[in-house]
Amino acid sequence: MPHIAVIGGGIAGLSTAYYLQKQAQAAGVGVRITLIEAGEQLGGKIRTEHTQGFTIEGGPDSFITQKPAALKLVHELGLDDQLIPTNAQNKGVFVFHGGKLQALPEGVMLIVPTHIMPFALSPLFSWPGKLRMGLDLLLPARRDDEDETLADFIRRRLGEEALDRLAEPMMAGIYNAEAEHQSIMATFPRFRAIEKEYGSLIRGMLAARKHRPAPAAANGNPPRTMFMSLRPGVSQLVDALIAATPADVRLNAPVQRILRRAHDYQIVLGPESCVCADHVVLATPAYAAADLLEGLRSDLAAALRRIRYVDTGTVSVAYRRADVGHNLKGFGLVIPRSAGRNINAVTWTSSKWEYRAPDDAVLMRVFFGGSRHPEIFALPDDELMAVVQEDLRLMMGIERPPLFSRIYRWQNASPQYDVGHVQRVDALTAACPPGIHLTGSAYRGVGLPDCIAQAEDTAQDIIAGLRPSA
Ligand SMILES: Cc1cc2nc3c(=O)[nH]c(=O)nc-3n(C[C@H](O)[C@H](O)[C@H](O)COP(=O)(O)OP(=O)(O)OC[C@H]3O[C@@H](n4cnc5c(N)ncnc54)[C@H](O)[C@@H]3O)c2cc1C
Repeated sequence: MPHIAVIGGGIAGLSTAYYLQKQAQAAGVGVRITLIEAGEQLGGKIRTEHTQGFTIEGGPDSFITQKPAALKLVHELGLDDQLIPTNAQNKGVFVFHGGKLQALPEGVMLIVPTHIMPFALSPLFSWPGKLRMGLDLLLPARRDDEDETLADFIRRRLGEEALDRLAEPMMAGIYNAEAEHQSIMATFPRFRAIEKEYGSLIRGMLAARKHRPAPAAANGNPPRTMFMSLRPGVSQLVDALIAATPADVRLNAPVQRILRRAHDYQIVLGPESCVCADHVVLATPAYAAADLLEGLRSDLAAALRRIRYVDTGTVSVAYRRADVGHNLKGFGLVIPRSAGRNINAVTWTSSKWEYRAPDDAVLMRVFFGGSRHPEIFALPDDELMAVVQEDLRLMMGIERPPLFSRIYRWQNASPQYDVGHVQRVDALTAACPPGIHLTGSAYRGVGLPDCIAQAEDTAQDIIAGLRPSA
């Protein structure tokens, strides 16, 4: 029976193992699956904590629904009744500009304005800035497929102000990405496709809005919002995957290297411990995959190391509702680099989601670090909390200390899709020796749906290759 080893037990590795067994069963192929994880638990960056009536996410708190893979998996795992939408009555995002929080005008889709009046009346942008954005309707379109940075793309179509007050803060604050390096073709290829098709970003987004189906509640399920989560937290997805995946799981088992044998691979866990497998799926960060492949293919290892990572962190802060003067009507705020603050963004967690805090309390999550502020990432906890509280005081007038806080530091956690990423990943995939597979957030999308979709594709490639001999 073919043996498949999956290294890395984050969402990518776990869902690869899940789809391997599912697809093998469907194809009538027998396989043995071993899932090997360095840490003491599965889930990788997915980390839900329940304390004092609060539900705290250390990593992802939701997933986007435009990419269907996460919703599909939730459905397969029987978790539809656990899905929760974002809170419709608190919709809206703020930008800290000019020393105060200013509402992002209604109708901004992703980072593109699509409602004329709220946008025209918004104090967030200057008149020259608004006119420059409007020029998008007239400027000639780029129709080739050459890559460029997201910053260059936004500058070209919408101007510098749109970059400073909209795109850069959204990318830095929410996506842990750097607009000045970020590949448009790897992260927002849809924008370039829209430019090509409609000749204008705004025209294309308006058309997309017209054709978007209204969110509907089907079969008693909640309405589908752009982001959704699970009532007990995202870790429920990990628990359900573990329950649905009959694999031999090895925890506390950091793989040290992978060696080629005559007919399979030897996965070395320690001086006297190894696993042999016909297929090896590397679902670790790219730099970890590089270390494992060094002895096997140093050129591949070097190419993997070219995928850059940055450190990022979150602090969840809980307050008594009475201690927060601000009404927190919105999903949170982003902060332009030009505002000169120390933190990057804040999600008003208990406004955005139900079931996250007791009624008389609020929960928010502060994003810090990234390439904008490596010095803040490096601060000891007490100094970090002082910086966070000072920024929350300045932006929301919160004077009282929180009831409690939880700091999560994610070192080397956010892969950066720099210009040329798509070609680099295509080359990496092509260079993998037979039986070695790369999957996960380093390659074809960082979000949970991207990781799940890649896992399903990886499983499909492997099982399809096994069929003839089955
Ligand atoms: C703060 C934060 C917030 C985020 N928010 C969202 C969000 O709201 N929505 C969303 O869609 N995405 C979000 N993301 C992104 C998303 O969470 C990640 O991209 C995704 O979880 C990564 O999954 P993965 O399986 O590729 O990697 P990981 O979760 O990093 O898993 C890799 C695993 O490999 C293991 N490993 C490494 N080396 C070895 C070795 N040598 N041997 C064995 N095991 C090894 C690690 O221990 C780890 O468990 C967020 C990320 C962060 C950091």
